[in-house]
Amino acid sequence: MSSQNEEIYPMNLVSFSIKTKGPGNFARRLRTVFTRFGFTEARTRHALHTIIDCLASYHASPTFFIPAIVLRRHPSLLARIATRGSEIGIHGYVHNDYRHLSVYEQFKQTQQAISVFKETHIPYAGFRNPYLGWTQESLRVFTRLGFQYESNEAVLHNVIDLAHFSPSLRTGYAKSLQLFQAIPSNIYTLRPHFEGTLLRIPTSIPDDEMLFDRLRITNPAEVGCIWSRVMEHVYDLGGLYTLNLHPERAIPCRKALDILLSFATSRPLPIWIVTLQEIAQWWNERSQFRLHITPLTPGRWHIAAACTSRATLLARHITVEDQTTQPWHATDVCIPSRNFSVEAARCPCIGVSLQTPQSVVDFLYEQGYPAQRCLPEDAHTYAYYLDLPGGTGTTCKERAQQKSVLVQHIEQLQVPLLRFACWPNANRAALAISGDIDSVTIQDFFLRILEVRQHTRQVR
Ligand SMILES: [Zn+2]
Repeated sequence: MSSQNEEIYPMNLVSFSIKTKGPGNFARRLRTVFTRFGFTEARTRHALHTIIDCLASYHASPTFFIPAIVLRRHPSLLARIATRGSEIGIHGYVHNDYRHLSVYEQFKQTQQAISVFKETHIPYAGFRNPYLGWTQESLRVFTRLGFQYESNEAVLHNVIDLAHFSPSLRTGYAKSLQLFQAIPSNIYTLRPHFEGTLLRIPTSIPDDEMLFDRLRITNPAEVGCIWSRVMEHVYDLGGLYTLNLHPERAIPCRKALDILLSFATSRPLPIWIVTLQEIAQWWNERSQFRLHITPLTPGRWHIAAACTSRATLLARHITVEDQTTQPWHATDVCIPSRNFSVEAARCPCIGVSLQTPQSVVDFLYEQGYPAQRCLPEDAHTYAYYLDLPGGTGTTCKERAQQKSVLVQHIEQLQVPLLRFACWPNANRAALAISGDIDSVTIQDFFLRILEVRQHTRQVR
């Protein structure tokens, strides 16, 4: 972490807020605290049920994340929304930034959080860090403690023309991007991916806080339009849109949420509206899918798909024999059958050189592509030939970049190719409505200042 970042993350919430939001914004924030929260649970309960009701009309449920210490103060409220089908994930033991904790403190506090979830009988599967403040050590902690997924990688969608905003608002917005370690949106970054057994499910920014409090866009129709533009972009790339809507802004955002959901359900192909845990279960299921391609006669292959019934099997530039196919997106068609023969100009599979490490083949499988080892002289008989003796790179950053370039390239190939789509049941994209319940009452909001101070002593 840079020394510049150290200055941005002081331990005290008040000075933190003043530094990142400015004194004017902090005063504004204090006013809104008293309008968005109450001294009882009533306002937050109403906000949570508003989101749940809104999604229920689309047969979907939200995912909420909550600091364990806040859950401990409001167990029946959370138990009630869990029984209505909402997923509850862990948002720290207290609302602190893990980038300020040693790996030991991260481990200890995550364990403490798990204990509270167990005591209160709230099932959990995933973790989202306050301020999306993850580190490589956090990923190891989540893996060791058995989490199915984490949802911290902040994919930035450039859907706002910042030129229309004042320099001070633009500065505040830029501070959020830095705080959230924003990454660009593309085909690869909009997909979940495994790091070992831990699934990383991307989240999206700008979130509601950046729109409402940073850029002061409070018109619900305008917010709904921005969210729909993000959805359109995600749909075009076939990825996941994880909206982050803090329940404290649910009431002013209700109409915006309706606009987004109505937009998402009126696309030509369906969008899977889903909780993050369901995505984690699906991605695990999908990771076992394989395509077995056997040559029959020149230009003909037999295909056996080892997958579950909800897999979406896609083909392009291939003639499928004696089977019905359904048009899907662009040049892709959907094949309902799992056993069939095809005619194609080349083997509809990715040929991988013998010196390319197995990790690259595993990566191709994870992305839903069929792969076979092949010799360089046979390269031209495959849809695409991959020769990466050094794998996808040595550093995390290099690997992410190379994987991104590779996926983008394969997706755009106009050659005979079979593959599994990202989402089940012929869905083109996925949409998860998530929200961090940072506080339930005004008391929670102010207790946070003390809790963060008590639990962030050990700065690296
Ligand atoms: Zn939070």
